[in-house]
Amino acid sequence: MKKLTYQSTRGGESGITASQAILKGIASDGGLFMPEEIPQLDMTMEELSRLSYKEIAYEVMKLYLTDFTKKELKDCIEQAYDSKFDTEQIAPIVKVATAYFLELFHGNTIAFKDMALSILPRFMTVAAKKNKVDKEIVILTATSGDTGKAALAGFADVPGTRIIVFYPKNGVSHMQELQMVTQKGGNTAVVAIHGNFDDAQTGVKKIFGDPEFGKRLDEGGFQLSSANSINVGRLIPQVVYYVYAYADLLARGEIENGEKINVAVPTGNFGNILAGYLAKQMGVPINKLLCASNDNKVLYDFFTTGIYDKNREFVLTMSPSMDILVSSNLERLIYLSCGCDAKKTAKLMKDLAEKGSYKVTKEMQKRMKDFVGGYATEEEDAKAIHFLYKNRGYVIDTHTGVAAAVWKNYRDNTGDDTKTVIVSTASPYKFSKSVLEAIQGPSMMEDEFAIAEELQRISMVPVPAAIQELKNAEIRHTAECDVEDMEAAVGKILGI
Ligand SMILES: *Cc1c(COP(=O)(O)O)cnc(C)c1O
Repeated sequence: MKKLTYQSTRGGESGITASQAILKGIASDGGLFMPEEIPQLDMTMEELSRLSYKEIAYEVMKLYLTDFTKKELKDCIEQAYDSKFDTEQIAPIVKVATAYFLELFHGNTIAFKDMALSILPRFMTVAAKKNKVDKEIVILTATSGDTGKAALAGFADVPGTRIIVFYPKNGVSHMQELQMVTQKGGNTAVVAIHGNFDDAQTGVKKIFGDPEFGKRLDEGGFQLSSANSINVGRLIPQVVYYVYAYADLLARGEIENGEKINVAVPTGNFGNILAGYLAKQMGVPINKLLCASNDNKVLYDFFTTGIYDKNREFVLTMSPSMDILVSSNLERLIYLSCGCDAKKTAKLMKDLAEKGSYKVTKEMQKRMKDFVGGYATEEEDAKAIHFLYKNRGYVIDTHTGVAAAVWKNYRDNTGDDTKTVIVSTASPYKFSKSVLEAIQGPSMMEDEFAIAEELQRISMVPVPAAIQELKNAEIRHTAECDVEDMEAAVGKILGI
């Protein structure tokens, strides 16, 4: 088969193999790796509809990871999508009234990040061998709450790796924080920063781009990589569930062969929805991609005006994993929309870094018309959660609530009643307090575990093991630091 290579969206690197792109995480010029072309599915949707999740995963991944052998890829898939998931379907679709909820929270940290982060460490291990890496790989990750835990769980005690996670001290839910600070594993470290997610993400990108520090790492026997969604090793596994969702709806007779569907995606860093767009480019009949934001509606403004402007107040919401003003993966869409012009992309990203904003051309905007921006306020989010519970007995989390609300608004405003997959990104138990209050109104209950039990009582869905095990788990990570000391913190953890 033809070998697919990867290049930086900013033009500084090209001809990179998939395994190298996964190891590096981010290109040395600060750009993101993109395949030189988007491969086409070589099976029909009808054929795919007879396959399991794991089989579809292989059919998608083999097109991107062309320097992995069939056996390597199949082993990675087998080890990733095993009993860590509480259902063999891996990503079950639940039909509720006229919508289809694609539940991506059945992995061991109960958020959709598990879909990619259960396999990324496997990719990384294979890639390290392939490229004869003799250094310890240090995974450096900024998290808005869910990536951190999923990456920690995925990399814990994986030989040849260390993982360091930075999260915003007051920017994640109580359960998310507990999940991270109780993480076991001799190679794990978790640091709370005094700042928000964007500060954490910018800080991590800075460390990657610091040649001085890179030299120190090299001398210390370390090499950096990223588990954030800027890594193609995270993006590609996310394409799988869009292909699977379509195939599954087809298998169940919910749609006709070739019938177009819409997808609604609660969005933060733009990784998940971008994977949906790639699925569309690969041949999945997707019409519109509804990009759902919370009050940090920078993407909504971008899709409606063509201007990306992060100069605004950062709002803390009850969907913290979407509290983001710099959506890193948008760079990949920008790149595709200007005809893969790396110079143009680099210029826009420079504007973003220097002025905090940039404007795309009318032509580029036209090429992005598959995307519809929408946003939901806190009140609309709560209303969507409340409505689904009261009328259908179905409980969704606060992020999925944003997508459900955006979908409803879109349908009401446009009359477009195309069948829609709402991407359900987290278990409601990760955000029990907000979910319970959306359903029952303000509550005096403070104890998160008592709240979870109340949620269990009304939803009849058992409290997941991932929550129960936190109750008596030992707190192992208490480090905190200021934003400007992140690099020093890494140095200290690694002893360099
Ligand atoms: C990360 C996350 C999102 C946002 O996904 P992106 O790929 O960053 O756009 C939405 N919901 C939940 C629960 C998440 O953890």
